[in-house]
Amino acid sequence: MPVMSVTGRIEGADLGATLVHEHIIISIPGEELDPGYAPDRNEIIAMAVDRLQELKANGVGAIVDPCPIELGRNPELYAEVSQRSGVRIIFATGFYFEDLGIPQYWRARDKQEIADFYLHELSEGVGRTGLRPGVIKAATGNAVTELERRVLGAAGLAQAQAGCAIITHTEHSRHGDTQQAIFAEHGADLSRVLIGHQDEQTEWEPIAALAERSFVGIDRVGYDILAPDERRADHVAALLSHGFGNKVCLSQDCVCTLSAPKMPFPPMRPNPPLPAAFLARNRPMSYVVTGFAGALRERGVTEAELDVIFRDNPRRLLAGAE
Ligand SMILES: [Zn+2]
Repeated sequence: MPVMSVTGRIEGADLGATLVHEHIIISIPGEELDPGYAPDRNEIIAMAVDRLQELKANGVGAIVDPCPIELGRNPELYAEVSQRSGVRIIFATGFYFEDLGIPQYWRARDKQEIADFYLHELSEGVGRTGLRPGVIKAATGNAVTELERRVLGAAGLAQAQAGCAIITHTEHSRHGDTQQAIFAEHGADLSRVLIGHQDEQTEWEPIAALAERSFVGIDRVGYDILAPDERRADHVAALLSHGFGNKVCLSQDCVCTLSAPKMPFPPMRPNPPLPAAFLARNRPMSYVVTGFAGALRERGVTEAELDVIFRDNPRRLLAGAE
């Protein structure tokens, strides 16, 4: 089954090595009110193209940017960055979690209305751009709220109909099992779900439990504030040795650019604005396929297993099993 990228349909087999959770840009509602707000579109594109070209030089053919709708999702920008970098970009429909997202209008809609909206974007494109998302984003916060249950249910309904992948955000690696239960209740195919952000699990076993039914994301590689990479690498090696190699996806949750004049995320608030390098955490964007892959090799992970992680798993997640 082909997958929809921002520049058109692509066969799963043609994706190549794929990072399932990276971002071109994140913007937070309200930042445009800041007197210091003056984003330069050309500069943003140049910065993102630069990063993706570095990825491409290291063998990555595609990324998924699962930016939720309300955090500055910008399909036209992705299309330009994809064309200029030669890296395919698959973007998402879907809202974020209650604390940081879900616009008021949609809080007042029922589950089916939200599912219909997602399905409309998936089949007709975003607004009048004609650019179509290829995955659904879903998210929960520290506790799973009633509103989040409704929005996750909508994602499940839409996935069951559209047959695309769902990629999730979890706060502090929590509630992946609840996410799975809600999707399953709504007829979604759990084998096409990626339960994201499992980096903060202190043990590998809870990740394995999720991997029984879905893909799991160790997708904040290099994000030292949240977890040390040594532990991430240990977890990946443990999952592989217990037979879950075909369920693990690796990525970094890097943000190529921000448009906010000040750092918008409270837990990392050092102001004034942070240099772009911070967003990739002072590493090249290829770190996950170079440095981190090296840490996995040191733990006995083979080239064939790395191929499964970076090529086969994203392909099966995004395009389904052939
Ligand atoms: Zn993210």
